[in-house]
Amino acid sequence: MNKKTKIGIIICDRYRNCAGGKCFRALKNREGAFDIYKNDEEVELVGYTNCGGCPGGNIEYAPEEMKNNGAEVIHLATGFVVGYPPCPYIDDFKNVIREKFNMEVVVGTHPIPQKYSDIHGKIGTWKSDAWQEKIKPTMADEKTRIDYN
Ligand code: SF4
Repeated sequence: MNKKTKIGIIICDRYRNCAGGKCFRALKNREGAFDIYKNDEEVELVGYTNCGGCPGGNIEYAPEEMKNNGAEVIHLATGFVVGYPPCPYIDDFKNVIREKFNMEVVVGTHPIPQKYSDIHGKIGTWKSDAWQEKIKPTMADEKTRIDYN
């Protein structure tokens, strides 16, 4: 029998009114950072919230609530890497979620939309190896990025 994985999604507060359309679509299609679940029979989303606004105070609490619902993995949504500027606290969030809550963390949800990739390419946001690592799960191919514009 295939594995069932429960996950939580935390979005950047600047997109606080987002209805989650791209994340839910990508989860269903196992695209972007969700392609790691391709071989799983089922992935259940057990929590969805925002970081609480800079500097992300909700990260101290929200993962625990998601863990109480069975979440094993927290996804920091793609908005963390595509915003202008991207979130400067991603590494801190990854560390605290792993160390305080003993949960896995994945940077990203849906594929990066091409329009964001174009701008960040022009201004050089993601040039460093550290940023290349952060965008790797959601970079996808150009056709997919255009589909998520
Ligand atoms: S930039 Fe980071 S800390 Fe600020 S609102 Fe977005 S995710 Fe939260």
